[in-house]
Amino acid sequence: MARSGIQFQKGLSLPGFQRLYGTEEQCEAALETMRWPDGFRCPRCDGHAHGLVYGRRLKRYQCRSCGHHTLTAGTILQGTKLPLTTWFLAFYLIGQAKTGISSLELSRHLGVNYDTAWLLHNKILRAMSEREEVYLLRGKIQLDDAYLGGERPGGKAGRGSENKIPIVAAVSLNEAGHPIHARITAVSGFSSEAIADWARRHLSPGSQVLSDGLACFRAVTTANCHHKAVITGGKHPNELPQFRWINTLLGNLKTSFSGTFHAFNFDKYARRYLGAYCFRFNRRFSMVAMTERIANAVCCCRPATERDLRVAEAYG
Ligand SMILES: [Zn+2]
Repeated sequence: MARSGIQFQKGLSLPGFQRLYGTEEQCEAALETMRWPDGFRCPRCDGHAHGLVYGRRLKRYQCRSCGHHTLTAGTILQGTKLPLTTWFLAFYLIGQAKTGISSLELSRHLGVNYDTAWLLHNKILRAMSEREEVYLLRGKIQLDDAYLGGERPGGKAGRGSENKIPIVAAVSLNEAGHPIHARITAVSGFSSEAIADWARRHLSPGSQVLSDGLACFRAVTTANCHHKAVITGGKHPNELPQFRWINTLLGNLKTSFSGTFHAFNFDKYARRYLGAYCFRFNRRFSMVAMTERIANAVCCCRPATERDLRVAEAYG
């Protein structure tokens, strides 16, 4: 069997990770560079002048204009009581786990209790997911509909199951027909309104969209995209070469989620899980830099409380 260049690329080994992010000072330095690549900027007053304050655990910047203390303040790490080395180890584990990692596994690896691991995990997933939404897909795009989940313990199975999540999966292709970016999102349903709204949020105008004959996909034209439907003639789109990449993506997604997450959690946190899955897929060519990319996403993400994170997210 041919070896895939992606699967066999050099990743960041655990000893390699420890050399880069093994101490609190190294993690602090990495965060500083990511937050202020052009030098300190106070998140409260925009001032440049600062001093350094050495707390019991964490070094902090003190703004000379307004006195504000910060290193993690203003990011999703704000107020954390965990060492930065624990956070960076979590970035590493989440980034390297090909089929995802559960909060329970994280708690074992990090040596923290389950509730702490859940919160840390969900903050990181939110940061990855928000980072993904910054970009629009463009160019040639394959589109497909699917359902995820649907097996609540004691609940109905199969069609009509109350926690089956309708999702739209899209992948953009380069001129050679290879996948570039993926976007997979939960939607409220497969109506024209839902797809039109989805297309406005995720596709760049002028994109060329290819889908099967499902009627609602015509609605991408309301977001100024071109649309071509491939009539599958009774065949499942899985059997058509035009849909090769979208089928591969959906197949891998289902494998990953069935092994890692429980369906009864998934219906509540679908958006976060799917966004983080695409974050990893879209950076699959640079496994060495994955830890740094996740740390960067975390620096860009606004603070969120546990309550914020436990509230079910809107689909879109
Ligand atoms: Zn300030």
